[in-house]
Amino acid sequence: MTSQQAALGALKRYFGYDSFRPGQQGIVESLLEGQDVLGVMPTGAGKSVCYQVPAALLPGITIVISPLISLMRDQVDALNDLGLTAAFVNTTQTPDEQSMVLAQVTAGQVRLLYVAPERLETGRFRDFAARTPISLIAVDEAHCVSQWGQDFRSSYLGIGDFIASLPTRPTIGAFTATATERVRQDIITILGLRDPAVTVTGFDRPNLYFDVVKLESKYKAAWIARYVADHEDESGIIYCATRKETEALAATLNQMGHPAVAYHGGMSPEVREQAQRDFITDRVPVVVATNAFGMGIDKSNVRFVIHHNMPESIEAYYQEAGRAGRDGEPSRCTLLWNESDIVTRRRLLDTDYENERLTPEEQEIVRQSKRRLLDGMVGYCRTTDCLHRYMTRYFGQELEDSFDRVDRGDADRDNADRHTGSEHGATPRKCGACSNCESTFETIDVTRVARAISRCVHDVNQRVGSGKIVKILRGSKAQDLAWLNPEQMPTFGMLKDVNEARIRDVLSQMATDGFLFIAEGRLPIVMFGKRAAETAAADFHYEIKRVERRRAQADGVGSNRSRLRGGVSAISDDALAGPALGVYVPDDDEEMLFQKLRDLRRTIAQEIGKPPYIVFSDKTLRDMARIRPVTDAQFLAVNGVGQHKLDLYGQRFMQTVASFNAGNMQ
Ligand code: ADP
Repeated sequence: MTSQQAALGALKRYFGYDSFRPGQQGIVESLLEGQDVLGVMPTGAGKSVCYQVPAALLPGITIVISPLISLMRDQVDALNDLGLTAAFVNTTQTPDEQSMVLAQVTAGQVRLLYVAPERLETGRFRDFAARTPISLIAVDEAHCVSQWGQDFRSSYLGIGDFIASLPTRPTIGAFTATATERVRQDIITILGLRDPAVTVTGFDRPNLYFDVVKLESKYKAAWIARYVADHEDESGIIYCATRKETEALAATLNQMGHPAVAYHGGMSPEVREQAQRDFITDRVPVVVATNAFGMGIDKSNVRFVIHHNMPESIEAYYQEAGRAGRDGEPSRCTLLWNESDIVTRRRLLDTDYENERLTPEEQEIVRQSKRRLLDGMVGYCRTTDCLHRYMTRYFGQELEDSFDRVDRGDADRDNADRHTGSEHGATPRKCGACSNCESTFETIDVTRVARAISRCVHDVNQRVGSGKIVKILRGSKAQDLAWLNPEQMPTFGMLKDVNEARIRDVLSQMATDGFLFIAEGRLPIVMFGKRAAETAAADFHYEIKRVERRRAQADGVGSNRSRLRGGVSAISDDALAGPALGVYVPDDDEEMLFQKLRDLRRTIAQEIGKPPYIVFSDKTLRDMARIRPVTDAQFLAVNGVGQHKLDLYGQRFMQTVASFNAGNMQ
């Protein structure tokens, strides 16, 4: 049997999947053939399978190095449930327990052993490792070796040493979701990967619906409460910027009868651990957290992630939002933002001196790069382009045409958009999975306003902020302008007839599009951007789009559940399947059966004391509700069902299906 056939066989037998996802097969085959690997895949793309399948097939054991001991128990439980023997050693166990686990491994009873990097430094573990045949070392969250990443852990620096200390060098697979080149280089050098096969998979996650909502701060809590009320049987994460906000919002939700727990770094470890468990086991559907929550959380049925504030970068946003929908089922990522979020973020950057070891020049370089990251995030909030496309382009990839999301060039786009009130939904560029593609845009010609702004920036010699520019253009007599002598300027009062908000909107959009550049300092100054000269050209034409949210509105305040269900189903399996843009909407029967299967899953999870998603993922239950299996063969055809799961749970689930079928026929 070739390694390809063996890999597919193991994927089906243990995991119940018929095919590999993009990137997985190459990685698995390289590892089986003894070549080191660096796998860069977004959260939820399926990194674990890349080392778990080889672990099932290689002769020696696989050691998985992972930073989060609190998750090891769940990961190990899930693997044992699939029929793949796994164990962990960490500080939550007594020395006797640890010895027992190591003895089991030595006796060949375990395929995968999970450890934290600190463990590799202990003499006892090194002795054990020296006398145990190890085929593969998988380093999870490998970006933790890099000081350039945000999650640096000094214990990761010892991994290279540990590998070098082994009598026979195993194959090394390193995995991360962090895409920057610098971090990748660090991983290769510090872990000492030898001629690794580097695989970077697509960063698009078609099952995620991206949604951007501009909302004044005072309305955010109500919006979220409404969303949660409309999705009370769904699991979700709400990210807030501060600890205080997480507690306040969790309290608000609880008062309104929507169970939620807060989670942040200021809580005691026990309380935090309990909050995490409550969330993972579906005891509490919603967690309201700071960004301390989530690294390594692999709860697969998180159906929504809402950001109460704008994060500092697209990288951070994508990692947090990407915790939704890891099972591939339709899930929603909503970002709530407003202009004051941007001001707050910018102010934080300027007052942030966390790294006092740096010289003032170095600090300025760091600040500049953080500003650029923030600009990327602001651009995401403001763009009227497809949000999937914005995201993947940010990560250096152009979307393929699976949704006909290819950029057809500016000429085409102008034709498509120039009718005021044109519906994006009617054009073929719609992705079907983001609020921009599902909104109606009204296009407004603002060429005159943009030109005037640009001239005014020239008149004031790029010396003032946006507030003053607006005042001058509107012909204000305010005292704080007197030193500029504005009345002498050609642009003074040039936009008397345009309201202030419109001028501000256009100015912001011009900064996003590169016509202007907002230089940060104690006070932000409006300067010319790279494209400034274009505004003086005779054929300059500039439009902004006012967004009228359509379905997105239905998901917020004033929504109703049945509409919403329809809306979200529209991006279900078809989105995953690729080009076909049909719409799959489950019928009522199927939805009812799905709920029954979920109830059974909860009962079983309670019986065995494990999180429900370990029994079966939402995706598997949905497929089961569609297929309605009543024989073993049918049950095995369900996505995510392998032989071991059939043996463990098949009978009970098939009974539920059978009695549902019978009930329906009466
Ligand atoms: P990551 O570690 O990259 O964040 P996981 O390994 O946790 O992602 O995988 C996310 C989900 O996708 C899991 O529920 C996993 O079982 C599922 N999955 C992985 N590979 C496949 C596949 N080839 N087919 C179907 N589902 C898969």
